[in-house]
Amino acid sequence: TNRTFTMIKPDAVENGHIGAILEKISASGFRIVALKKTQMTQVDAETFYAIHNERPFFGELVSYMTRGPIVAAILEKENAVADFRTLIGATNPEDAAEGTIRKLYATSLSENAVHGSDSDENAAIEGAFHFSGREMF
Ligand code: ATP
Repeated sequence: TNRTFTMIKPDAVENGHIGAILEKISASGFRIVALKKTQMTQVDAETFYAIHNERPFFGELVSYMTRGPIVAAILEKENAVADFRTLIGATNPEDAAEGTIRKLYATSLSENAVHGSDSDENAAIEGAFHFSGREMF
């Protein structure tokens, strides 16, 4: 068993998809270890997405991720990182497989409804960014 980290991003929160996305995550066999609704500051988003800070879309990404609340969660399942990326689908919802969270709920490439960690190492870093040990069960 291992863990991944996810955020339901501002577009999906604005569009009323928190419940449907959490239901799909649970129905797909992930256990919710930690969960909260929060809002990232500019510094939070610049830090979380530091790997992208040279990319042309960095400013757009930071303003999108800070414009409203998100839902952050740590999820547990065997093969969590890879299985969750399969569940959410391709970065661009136009390329995402039928039935994936991004196909169902994303707005566009830049506003794509959910985040999923891309490695076990990043899952641990990103989970610890949002949650203290006392918030993980
Ligand atoms: P995430 O890290 O959010 O799970 P990902 O790993 O599928 O997404 P990355 O390439 O790491 O995608 O990009 C991080 C985020 O930056 C994307 O989820 C999307 O919100 C935004 N993004 C990526 N590419 C573009 C782009 N070309 N134009 C605008 N925004 C983009």
